Amino acid sequence: MPKQTPTFCADLHCHSTISDGIYQPEVVAERAHSYGVTLWSLTDHDEVSGQQRARVRAEELGMTYLSGVEISVTWANQTVHIVGLGIDPENVTLVQGLRETRAGRAGRARRIGERLAKLGMPGAFEGALTFAGNPELISRTHFARFLVEAGHCQTVQSVFDHYLSDDGPAHEPMQWAKLEDAVSWIRGAGGVAVIAHPGRYHYTPTQFGALFDTFKDVGGQAIEVITGSHTVPQYQEYAQVARHYDFLASCGSDFHSAKESKIEFGSLPPLPADLKPVWKDLI
Ligand code: AMP
Ligand code: MN
Ligand code: MN
Ligand code: MN
Repeated sequence: MPKQTPTFCADLHCHSTISDGIYQPEVVAERAHSYGVTLWSLTDHDEVSGQQRARVRAEELGMTYLSGVEISVTWANQTVHIVGLGIDPENVTLVQGLRETRAGRAGRARRIGERLAKLGMPGAFEGALTFAGNPELISRTHFARFLVEAGHCQTVQSVFDHYLSDDGPAHEPMQWAKLEDAVSWIRGAGGVAVIAHPGRYHYTPTQFGALFDTFKDVGGQAIEVITGSHTVPQYQEYAQVARHYDFLASCGSDFHSAKESKIEFGSLPPLPADLKPVWKDLI
């Protein structure tokens, strides 16, 4: 019997214990593979130390691997996430830029802990740390998991809805990397910069136009169209943005954990056929 070629399936956005996912990089690789992914990237927040582990396991399983990262950026007073795909994870400027981006997380986490204590939820900083696989990468998700475990909320999503979302009472404003720096680190490391889940940002139409123009001006090339963070109408909306700005298109589940993630690997529709996929010149 001839071996069947697996159907092509790309997932270029997800997380491991190196940031705020709950599985080790190898286990995320195994999960992606078992749900049919053939082109994969692990894109931990502000950190590339899981890349070698992810690549080795992915290639053992026969997937094509692209090195990845998701960089936290502040633009027009809001947080924007920029995914870098096809980067060299050992690039010195990228690694140093990510280290600086992570540096403020510990102090921010202490302040979030103080806010939560004032709201009647003590011990959250120490509690969140026990959930963080990487102490340099303590994130709101780790707080959310602790608050669920401590019985303050039923689900991680409800912690965000009540306390930790960008306008929630326990949110701590952060100054993340600059857009032009994040794009330049990614480009300098040989990668393509992608605006992650644009449908999640609360910009006015004018601000969105300025974000896309600026991103393009500083060397950004791609946008996520199909993502676990978008509704079906948003697939169409951001496909139109990709056409208008001549952006490459990307897709990914943004998988963090089986319980918390809305979308499982391999369950999103393919990119609209007329868009140029972000992997065009990367594989
Ligand atoms: P941080 O980098 O610490 O600000 O945490 C950001 C992470 O928190 C995101 O990558 C998501 O995993 C999660 N997150 C942020 N906002 C929400 C939200 N409104 N609902 C659920 N998860 C969220
Ligand atoms: Mn996350
Ligand atoms: Mn994100
Ligand atoms: Mn993500």
